[in-house]
Amino acid sequence: MTKPRTYLDYNASAPLRPEAREAMLAALDVVGNASSVHAEGRRARAIVETARERVARLVNARPSEVVFTSGATEANNWVLRAGWDSIILSNIEHDSVLGPTRAQWGQTPHTESRRSTRTAGCEGSDPIHTLSVSVKGVVSVAAIKTLATGGRTLLALQMANNETGVVQPVAEAAALARERGMSVHSDAVQAPGRIAIDFRALGVDTMSLSSHKIGGPKGAGALVVRDGFNLPPFISGGGQERRRRAGTENVAAIAGFGAAADAARYEAPETSRMSSLRERLEREALQSTPGAIVLGSAAERLCNTSCISLPGETAETLVIKLDLAGIAVSAGAACSSGKVGASHVLAAMGVAPEFARGAIRVSLGHATTENDIDAFLAAWREIAATKTRALKVA
Ligand code: PMP
Repeated sequence: MTKPRTYLDYNASAPLRPEAREAMLAALDVVGNASSVHAEGRRARAIVETARERVARLVNARPSEVVFTSGATEANNWVLRAGWDSIILSNIEHDSVLGPTRAQWGQTPHTESRRSTRTAGCEGSDPIHTLSVSVKGVVSVAAIKTLATGGRTLLALQMANNETGVVQPVAEAAALARERGMSVHSDAVQAPGRIAIDFRALGVDTMSLSSHKIGGPKGAGALVVRDGFNLPPFISGGGQERRRRAGTENVAAIAGFGAAADAARYEAPETSRMSSLRERLEREALQSTPGAIVLGSAAERLCNTSCISLPGETAETLVIKLDLAGIAVSAGAACSSGKVGASHVLAAMGVAPEFARGAIRVSLGHATTENDIDAFLAAWREIAATKTRALKVA
């Protein structure tokens, strides 16, 4: 008999919501190309436009501001590669923000001390300025006030961190950046359904979203682009998405994304349900392993994310032991390649290496129940007890 599994890795990918599956199955049988004028094409178009309205509603944007992409990695690349003279970003951004920045200027934004040779408009001759992070995991945005601007400058600041769940001061940063004539992008992938998002009130120009983090299918996402904001297409060669993103729309995936967006809309009872599950998980895990700590817990966090460190263990071993016990969690940001390496997020927070090495990410979501928390805690206690027995024998 196969062991029942407990899935606690929603920040890597959430299980498909039934509403999304249903919408996708219905859309798969629609023959038309959404750009065709005949009835079949118009049916496909209607599915895409309904999904656009739903995604817009999720973040309080206008439907005309939602551009469908293959995911948030594409959306982030689109903005970051739009020919900026300089970029200001935090050093806890996701790789899909850091990677394109690094690729353009050949430097690693993780390390503030490295200098580029390209001249541009901020902080003397450095085209990349990295905002530092406090020990709580919150990006310090005050430095934006002191940055010299010139040319086209982009500020990129995520809404919430994927490893720790720490919520970032995007509205405050956007206000400071706008005063200085900068454009503002926010990677909001981890936020929908977990905190309320208001695209308009945030004052950002662009925002990226991902379908599979909210219970939609993988391979769909969106860039929300403020009406009137000038952003050249990243993928050209077709008139789709009002000439902003070429390529025949993935109608079924977009339909699933739209249905998931509707189901994931922020609701206080659901976030407090998740908060209390997370609170119990952390409280009981820390009680049974007194050396353990929760990283980022001193800051405002998403209701679903817990970054727990058990010093003396490596995250890699913990993930494997938990996996063998039927529990799926991840080691830091291991959502791209199964990699288990040093976390740039924890390093930026100044977390001591012995704590950073033993940090796992447990992330909850719409289908998480008390039984899942029971299963996690039982496995966690067993791992701790085995370790204590082994130490006694040694
Ligand atoms: N940004 C953040 C904060 C993420 O967590 C992820 C997913 N790991 C992405 C961007 C990339 O999203 P996608 O999988 O849709 O490309």
